[in-house]
Amino acid sequence: MTYIEPAPIKDKENPLESMMQRFDKAVELLGISEEMYYILKVPARQVTVGLPITMDDGRIKVFEGHRVIHSNILGPAKGGIRFDPAVNIDEVRALAAWMTWKCAVVDIPYGGAKGGIACNPREMSAGEMERLMRAYTVAMLDVFGPDRDIPAPDMGTGPREMAWLMDEYSKAKGMTVNAVVTGKPLVLGGSLGRTEATGRGVMVSALAGMDKLKINPYKATAAVQGFGNVGAHAAALLHERGVKVVAISDISGAYYNEHGIDIAGAIKYRDLNKGTLANFPAATPIAPDDLLTLNVDVLVPAAKEDVITHENAPYIQAKMIVEGANGPTSASADDIINEKGILVVPDILANAGGVTVSYFEWVQNRMGYKWNLDRINRRSDRIMKEAFDKVFHTSQQYNVPMRIAAYIVAIKKVADTYTFRGGY
Ligand code: GLU
Repeated sequence: MTYIEPAPIKDKENPLESMMQRFDKAVELLGISEEMYYILKVPARQVTVGLPITMDDGRIKVFEGHRVIHSNILGPAKGGIRFDPAVNIDEVRALAAWMTWKCAVVDIPYGGAKGGIACNPREMSAGEMERLMRAYTVAMLDVFGPDRDIPAPDMGTGPREMAWLMDEYSKAKGMTVNAVVTGKPLVLGGSLGRTEATGRGVMVSALAGMDKLKINPYKATAAVQGFGNVGAHAAALLHERGVKVVAISDISGAYYNEHGIDIAGAIKYRDLNKGTLANFPAATPIAPDDLLTLNVDVLVPAAKEDVITHENAPYIQAKMIVEGANGPTSASADDIINEKGILVVPDILANAGGVTVSYFEWVQNRMGYKWNLDRINRRSDRIMKEAFDKVFHTSQQYNVPMRIAAYIVAIKKVADTYTFRGGY
């Protein structure tokens, strides 16, 4: 029997600390009481399970899975499930809290949660993935529920995994419960527009930011780090709006073309090339770290946490950073970036398009009705734009960067809600 040792927790710059540093700053500015501080800080529920899975070679491997419900003050908890070798409880706790703030920023009636399993999906067969997802669902039967905690995809998971989750949960309940999870395939009650929703929200945020900086999208350049669901859609949609995307990257490396990369072509290439951009012919390979410091207007980190740190922040030349990933900038880089005058559209705002359309999916499931794509895009674009304006306005009001302003908007909303609801 093999035990998959969870990744060690880094003592410096772990995402939980990065999240808490921003949280602390916003709380101080808001003058929140000490009681409220702890109500908002301590997760409502945290579950860790061991999942013994029979692998294709007949051996049993034990995986460690987590689900953290950070808050259910605004409504049922909401957040994705991450399959990645680096998953650990601190990361899941940070990601769960970010979901609370994200849902509050875009004003949807959800609390925040996150799940994760330390595993490597790239090395697992479909059968192994299915057994793992089903076992995780069974272990979380008393956590999940359409009115309790509604999972969704995150890194390493997608519609296929959500279908298995929905099926396993439905079997246990003796009826089809499609509202228990979002990001499902269309035929199972998934929503139109959900797959591209996060990338679309990044595009809307980027355009709103360019407008503030008086950058003409048709004359703008962008670099997109990460070419998964978020990065590829963000790049394609920015390209569609006239922005020249000069660099993209994924696990295989980074690729640069000063004349602009044909994003549709890159997506096609990736899909025919085992899911990676390896040997992408229409651009020059560059060092992945160099992508972050290119002289572009917009930098979109769309992979994972702690990509922009105090080490590379001094060299960033972009005028604007739009955070497609959760936590791509570590707290130690914030001051450097602010001093350089770079506009940061923070993760809990910029990547909230995904959970917004997840909310629409849940609403449609509960109505037993299907909206067309036009309605979904119109409504999610409006929500993203309104949230951007509110955060921008708050940043001027408090004279703080947009990141802290986003925390202020979110924390205030959750704290006010708690005050009305009351505790024991
Ligand atoms: N995993 C996505 C995020 O981090 C989506 C969550 C959801 O749709 O519930 O925002």
